[in-house]
This record gives sequence, C-alpha cells and structure tokens, in this order.
Amino acid sequence: MSHRELVVLGTASQAPTRSRNHNGYLLRWDGEGLLFDPGEGTQRQMLFAGVTASEITRICITHFHGDHCLGVPGVLQRMSLDRVPHVVDVCYPAEGEEVFARLRHASLFRDMLHLRERPVGGGDAITGISSFRLEARALSHGVPTVGYRLIEPDGRRMLPEQLAARGISGPDIGRLQREGRLVADGQLVTVDQVSEPKPGQRFAFVMDTRLCDAAFALADQADMLVCESTFADAEAGLAREYGHLTAGQAGQIAAESGVRRLVLTHFSQRYESENGDRLARQAASVFAGEVVLARDLEHVPVPPRRLSADR
Ligand SMILES: [Zn+2]
Repeated sequence: MSHRELVVLGTASQAPTRSRNHNGYLLRWDGEGLLFDPGEGTQRQMLFAGVTASEITRICITHFHGDHCLGVPGVLQRMSLDRVPHVVDVCYPAEGEEVFARLRHASLFRDMLHLRERPVGGGDAITGISSFRLEARALSHGVPTVGYRLIEPDGRRMLPEQLAARGISGPDIGRLQREGRLVADGQLVTVDQVSEPKPGQRFAFVMDTRLCDAAFALADQADMLVCESTFADAEAGLAREYGHLTAGQAGQIAAESGVRRLVLTHFSQRYESENGDRLARQAASVFAGEVVLARDLEHVPVPPRRLSADR
C-alpha cells in the first residue's frame, strides 16, 4: 500500500502566533519524505508531529524569506547529528545560492551531511525518477520564488482474477508487464486484457505569489494543492502589493485547475483570533472541491487515486 500524506509542521506567514508555527510541510510519498519550506522551529515541530530527520529525502525551498527557510540550519544539523546516511537533494531558486550557503553554514557543527544541491534555474524540470517527476516554476513574489509540483506518471494496475483466469502467474506477470503481450496456453494475452488504467497522482505546492500563470500550471489537475492564502478577500490590495494570494484567489486557482483537495496555509497573524474560518469559506465560495484549512501538526492524506485516467 502506498502511503501518501502531508504532515503540517507550521502554517504562519511572517510572524508565528501562539497556535501557528512558521511554515513547514513534510510530504510523505511512498518511501520519500519531501520537506517543503522549513521555517524557524521546524526541528521541534517535527518532533511533535512524529517526523524523524532520517525520513527526509529531499528539501524544497520556494524562496529565501525567513518564514520559509530559517529552519534550514536546525534541520540540516539534526540530520547530521542523526547520521542520516542517504543523499538528500536540496532544491531552491538558483538566485539564492549564496543565501543557502549561509544557512548551511550558519553555525559550527560536525558536518556529516550528504547533500546534493539542485538550484532551480529558468527551466522547470528538476528530476525525473521512475516513480515521479519533480518540477519547479517561477512564481511572482518580491524575491526570486519557485513553486513545485510532483507528477506520478499514469500506469496500469494488474487484475489478479484476470491473470488467474488465463493461467498467468509468477515471472510471467513481470514479462507481460514489460513486453505488453504473452502467449499463455496457446492464447495471445495483451496487458490491456488483464489490467486497468492506474491514473498517476499529482501534488502541487504554491507559496508566496501573486496570481500568475505559473500558479495555475503547477496546480493543473493536482490531487492535492497546498496553496498560500495569506489574506482574506477584503485585503486583495495588500495581497497584490506584497506579492501574495487571497483565500478567494487560492480557491480560483484550485477551481480553474481541476484540483481535488485544496489545503490553505501561510496565514497572516491578523486572522489568529477568528481561526481562519473566514478564509476557508472564501476559498470554498469559488471552489467546489474539498477545502482544508491547515492546522499545525495535522496529517492530511492525499486523496485516493482517481478511478480513471480521464482528467
Ligand atoms: Zn512567506
């Protein structure tokens, strides 16, 4: 069984509040752990949320404002302390290479890290491993910022009853998957006859940005979209001025991009007393899918697979 969920480590923009830590999100995706935008305090939030340093296989930073990266030194040093043995890819906007170097060496520690830095330039494809492709696109904020998306290719799910009915078992199943056809008991069997489409899943992470084409492109057909919604709709002017989205705009991106589950986060401290409910309502007024108002330390599952590849 695949295990795919978002662990919310922090949800505050700019200044943390009593109930919200600075940003931080771990996407558990089968055997991978992608840590997005570790803000200040992420190391301790990981402890509260049951996330270990050795789970982290990639770190993706959207930009180098403090609420998205001041947790980097602590997380890296914890990974070193825990002797994380594997190579960890670190993605960040290429213009921030020097800032990343400062964060990485912000204090003295015995460096046992195996990092592979992946500055993201003008292009968008970062990596394509067999199980998913990770992409980045430039967003529209006051400093160089990228959003990310993860795309699992469409595949096919083998149907055990259909295989059994044709007497196909053991290594023949793998051969049929590889070659697309097989002769069993004198009969030609194609892979389509004994399998059904398995639509790939998509995850998108859109942080600090104004409305822009890249935000829609990243969100396209996402099963889960994590989207900043710093402001309520009444503050649309402020949002535009400071390069942020309103809750209604986050809903608009989700609605126009065919998103299934929208996770709102990165809230301004001004909404602390009302607990963000207004923001969820405003996103839901334009987006008919599911809206989740992210809360610190919650685990939000990636929705079950779509039933067919039709998007
Ligand atoms: Zn921010």
